[in-house]
Amino acid sequence: MEFSLTKKQQENVDKARAFTKEWVSPNAVKYDRSGEFPRDICQEAFNLNFMNPHIPKEYGGEETCVLDHCLIMEEICTGCSGIGTALGSNGLSQYPVIFAGNDFQKKKFLEPMTQELMFSAYCVTEPEAGSDVSRIKTTAQKVGNDYVINGVKWWITCGSVASWYFVLARVEDRATGFIVPADTEGIIRGMKEHNLGQHASNTIRVTFEDVKVPQEYRLGEEGDGFKIAMKTFDHTRPGIASGSNGITKAALNIALTYAKARRTFDKKLISYQGISFKLAEMMTKLDAARYMTYLSADLFDQKQDNARQAAQAKWYAAEVAMWATVDCCQILGGYGYTNEMPAEKLMRDAKIYQIYEGASEIQKMIIVGKLMRTREVH
Ligand SMILES: Cc1cc2nc3c(=O)[nH]c(=O)nc-3n(C[C@H](O)[C@H](O)[C@H](O)COP(=O)(O)OP(=O)(O)OC[C@H]3O[C@@H](n4cnc5c(N)ncnc54)[C@H](O)[C@@H]3O)c2cc1C
Repeated sequence: MEFSLTKKQQENVDKARAFTKEWVSPNAVKYDRSGEFPRDICQEAFNLNFMNPHIPKEYGGEETCVLDHCLIMEEICTGCSGIGTALGSNGLSQYPVIFAGNDFQKKKFLEPMTQELMFSAYCVTEPEAGSDVSRIKTTAQKVGNDYVINGVKWWITCGSVASWYFVLARVEDRATGFIVPADTEGIIRGMKEHNLGQHASNTIRVTFEDVKVPQEYRLGEEGDGFKIAMKTFDHTRPGIASGSNGITKAALNIALTYAKARRTFDKKLISYQGISFKLAEMMTKLDAARYMTYLSADLFDQKQDNARQAAQAKWYAAEVAMWATVDCCQILGGYGYTNEMPAEKLMRDAKIYQIYEGASEIQKMIIVGKLMRTREVH
């Protein structure tokens, strides 16, 4: 077991921290209030190789391992997890292509993303199918050498700015994955959703009306789609957990600074056990969440099954971030409740980590599913 960062990892963390200080933190409030897409910050992130980290070297990418990506995302999300989601979510749609795409598909859809700032989006959720993906209704009908896609995808991150979509659709009863260029006729992009938090991130619904895609854009075989869509999460959940960890770190720093300075009844807040124990718990839970995150990322990088560990990290880190931000608001008293201070934004931003990429309950189902196939835990 090795618990220290390599020289290269430390350099990446330093680089991400400097980028967060210069670009992310100073603009967090601006994008939270305007709800604009932070394209300028994404461009800087692209220039620094923080976007598209996992694209293989043979297609022009950096092929950054998941663990290194987690270390970078924790730093960026400490500044603003909405901006973190905007610049990090390409991975969710790219991974199906990395994992299941052929050489033609990788060249056509991944390589250009290493040459200029571009976005892609993962279109799986529908109005009646979120946790239970088997309920999707979007269809892909084979017509000659093409497929014709009809259906509605809901809550699609980066849906407005994407150049192409990963789309899960039914070919008869077989869930199948497709790459669909966003400028294909018949695609209708909805308005940006007004979400509770992460306002810098763009979430829309995407409607497909008789959208024709050539069969060369199908990923794998008909019926491979569910496996491709789910396997993607083993890769992305550690990164999502690191976003939660960034929020927890930010909440801890704000609460700590405030508790050291604020006085009540002639003493500093931090001198009261009721406050200081909250800080001790925040620090401890943050470290626990980080080690779960790093372990799940490292297992993936070692090409081992990490489904349980990724679910544990995603669930636990999200719970810690939600709890820590609520406590941070409490420690700040009235200042915690006003948008003049960053605590309320952290609380709003934290909530989504308990929902997207599989809600907390679904992570527990994955963990217990693995336990049911285990005779004894060692
Ligand atoms: C901001 C945002 C961005 C998103 N981005 C994307 C994206 O880019 N691409 C995409 O495809 N989707 C995206 N989603 C969708 C997201 O993944 C789903 O919202 C999520 O998977 C939950 O699905 P649902 O909303 O349909 O809830 P439901 O599946 O209806 O679940 C409702 C509640 O019931 C719980 N529940 C469900 N089944 C069980 C059970 N068996 N036991 C116990 N509890 C259960 C759930 O955990 C949840 O708390 C996004 C959502 C949001 C809000």
